[in-house]
Amino acid sequence: MPLDNTTTPPPMGWKFDNSYAALPEFFYRRLAPVPVRAPKLMIFNRALAAELGLDPERLQSGEGVSILAGNVLPTGAQPLAQAYAGHQFGHFTTLGDGRAILLGEQITPTGKRRDIQLKGSGRTPFSRQGDGRAALGPMLREYVISEAMYALGIPTTRSLAVVASGEPVRRETLLPGAVLTRVAASHLRVGTFEYAAWQGTPEQVRMLADYSIRRHYPEAAQQENPYLAFFEAVMERQAALIVQWLLVGFIHGVMNTDNMAISGETIDYGPCAFMDIYNPATVFSSIDQHGRYAFANQAHIAQWNLARFAETLLPLFADGQEKAIDLAHTALKGFEDRFQAYWLKGMRAKLGLADAQEGDAGLIEELLKIMQRLGADYTNSFRDLAREASPDNALFQDGEFQSWQQRWQTRLDQQGKPLAEVRASMDAHNPAVIPRNHRVEEALAAAAEEEDIKPLEKLLGVLATPYAEPTEADQAYRQPPEPSNRVYQTFCGT
Ligand code: AMP
Ligand code: MG
Repeated sequence: MPLDNTTTPPPMGWKFDNSYAALPEFFYRRLAPVPVRAPKLMIFNRALAAELGLDPERLQSGEGVSILAGNVLPTGAQPLAQAYAGHQFGHFTTLGDGRAILLGEQITPTGKRRDIQLKGSGRTPFSRQGDGRAALGPMLREYVISEAMYALGIPTTRSLAVVASGEPVRRETLLPGAVLTRVAASHLRVGTFEYAAWQGTPEQVRMLADYSIRRHYPEAAQQENPYLAFFEAVMERQAALIVQWLLVGFIHGVMNTDNMAISGETIDYGPCAFMDIYNPATVFSSIDQHGRYAFANQAHIAQWNLARFAETLLPLFADGQEKAIDLAHTALKGFEDRFQAYWLKGMRAKLGLADAQEGDAGLIEELLKIMQRLGADYTNSFRDLAREASPDNALFQDGEFQSWQQRWQTRLDQQGKPLAEVRASMDAHNPAVIPRNHRVEEALAAAAEEEDIKPLEKLLGVLATPYAEPTEADQAYRQPPEPSNRVYQTFCGT
């Protein structure tokens, strides 16, 4: 039989199973992304595509890019904008996906369920005054920082691609527009529960809780009080997450309740940034005037957000309100202990301490105080601790530090572990490279202003193995900024 010369291309690999779209329409509005004029693929995550079971080649072809731009729907998609509310800087607001569309849930080859969401995909019923679009710079920024977080081993949403839209967006000036494909365990937020609790019925809250338990915390269903167990499990993951941020100097910047994921992933990379000089009061976000979301305030804010979460679940905790409030209070109090335990464990690992001793917390606090007094670089100081000598780091010339170092050394000696082993372990917990603001801004400027994506790709390459010592040529990525290119403020870019 002669071969037909019209061959059907291999499938792109989409395998949707849309459980969120099967919930009542109270939770979302069905609508498709608004097409863009001239999609152009700016950056693409091959490894993530493969993990999702998608064909990287097909996805980068014209047909694939049309999908990533929102111009064509992939097979099996059931596009929708999710409804949610949230406390923004402490004030309750009704929100929802104002510039994002959930295409559906991709089932990966290993059986994981991942939300595929387009961000910057046009107006929705939740857009309020917004244009539903996103600028290229901030979308590339989310791509870089989220992928850096992933490489650091921190739970996070991920970025599959950024497509320039070929359309300008109006911010303070006209900027190139873009669409980001965000991949998440889910987009369930504390704010989703606030929406259900304050705009819906107790039955709708229960439905959302049951859905979240099935999707993220199936073990809670077996507990005596499944909803309380669910709440405590979310709290546990948040305590662990915030500690992981603190250990690498990450400042989220907008920890509103709508930006806190039920899954425990870091979500919504707006004005977030990594701290260079250690100062617990550090704030980068231009809109955070009172330091609500400052570096050292993040645990407190997480607990505040969890209290808002608990409020939405009260009717599920117990029949009587008093009993429910009691249970919520007791549970919430457990946050501090969990947070403290994770923090101590993480800090011990950074200092090479394999066991726990009474004075450890004090030892750690002392080091941080010295670092703060000297304005030491957070990342490099921890990294350099495992080195013989670090002539570049002023910390090591300081008398108070040197006496601290001796006490730390004595503490290490008590473990009786070979030095090489301690150092290797410390290196595995103290990153050499983080996405330093000045490096990120420089790479974004090249991409957005000069259409040169190479500096960004190079930066991503170095950030992919943050715990490995960079090559001689890449040591520059470890350098803190000169005073002249220090970044003091970051912007939401919405
Ligand atoms: P964020 O500060 O990114 O967490 O966003 C807060 C809310 O504003 C969410 O409901 C977003 O969907 C919405 N939003 C942000 N930017 C835009 C935009 N350009 N157009 C419409 N809605 C937006
Ligand atoms: Mg948000």
